Amino acid sequence: MRASLGGKHVSGAERLTEEEFLPRVLCELLRRPGEHDFLKITIDRVEEVIETEPLKVSSFNFGSVEEARRFAVSKLVEAGVPKEVALKGLRLLVQGANPKGGNMRGAVLMDIRSGERLENDPERGVRTVRMDWKERDRVRKFLLERGFTERTLDALAVATKNVLCGVLAELCWSDDPDYTTGYMASPKTGYVRIHPLKERGDELGGRIYFIESERLEEVVKCLERRAVLLRGLPSS
Ligand code: AMP
Repeated sequence: MRASLGGKHVSGAERLTEEEFLPRVLCELLRRPGEHDFLKITIDRVEEVIETEPLKVSSFNFGSVEEARRFAVSKLVEAGVPKEVALKGLRLLVQGANPKGGNMRGAVLMDIRSGERLENDPERGVRTVRMDWKERDRVRKFLLERGFTERTLDALAVATKNVLCGVLAELCWSDDPDYTTGYMASPKTGYVRIHPLKERGDELGGRIYFIESERLEEVVKCLERRAVLLRGLPSS
């Protein structure tokens, strides 16, 4: 589902469900965006679904954006991203990764060794789609009870699928000016929630996927085509 207001994107969501639950899921998606004047829902049939465990979750809070960003870079380095490349990714999100200015619809693909951008279309980037939780309601309740938000539910699904598809490390913060928590994720560190990765009021956000350029085609195909269901509850 994607929704916009006055041509500006306001909400997007992905679901993976059995056919019998389609009416319920469609109602949820219709109710999800706040104010909008355009909403589009696309339905695809998927033949093969891979199940996987969610990444382990940890959370870190800092007194300033600077400290939080420094920590994010150190975790990217721990995940195997050279410091210069991690800093380049961070700067890109700070300034807005869309070459025309502002946000992209999808993620930046960055070569983990050289820091070169690899997306075909750098205004759009690549989008991770076709992922969901096997027991979405149960996991939502579990996360909300522990002080996480619905955003964590979706972001953890994106980050887990990314790792499964060969993304070696990811850095993300939202473009929502009121949501300042972001994360980094990798096979080694799991999903590391970091607060605050930007100042309140800042409308810029995005995602950087650090990958090996030799695997570009394979990784993009997996991100865009493979259907992935997350099994069980997240652990820390
Ligand atoms: P959000 O966390 O939804 O506020 O998204 C933050 C940024 O991440 C957006 O501005 C997009 O650039 C990017 N993004 C959002 N959803 C996806 C996705 N499914 N796959 C790749 N990038 C995304």
